[in-house]
Amino acid sequence: MEMSPEEMQKKKEMVLSMCVCANCPSWEECGEEGGYCFPTIAKSGCITEEKGCICGGCPVTEKMGLKNVYYCTRGSEKEQLGM
Ligand code: SF4
Ligand code: SF4
Repeated sequence: MEMSPEEMQKKKEMVLSMCVCANCPSWEECGEEGGYCFPTIAKSGCITEEKGCICGGCPVTEKMGLKNVYYCTRGSEKEQLGM
């Protein structure tokens, strides 16, 4: 089922509010907000080295049933699932 743009925006804000990327060893501070698992948020433009991923401990992983990691370097959940 497709979400309306308003619903997508709300969901994106929820994801960003819970995101723990900024505490991750792979994090690089370059003005990004995290939330890389979300389909409308692009991969990171500054994180290039995978030095550990703490997505598994993020509330978004449980809430949305995410299956992957390293969304910042490998792409959103949808991308990594080949959707
Ligand atoms: S699952 Fe990872 S990328 Fe997604 S909001 Fe949580 S910490 Fe950020
Ligand atoms: S997606 Fe994973 S590896 Fe990338 S910054 Fe967020 S927690 Fe760290």
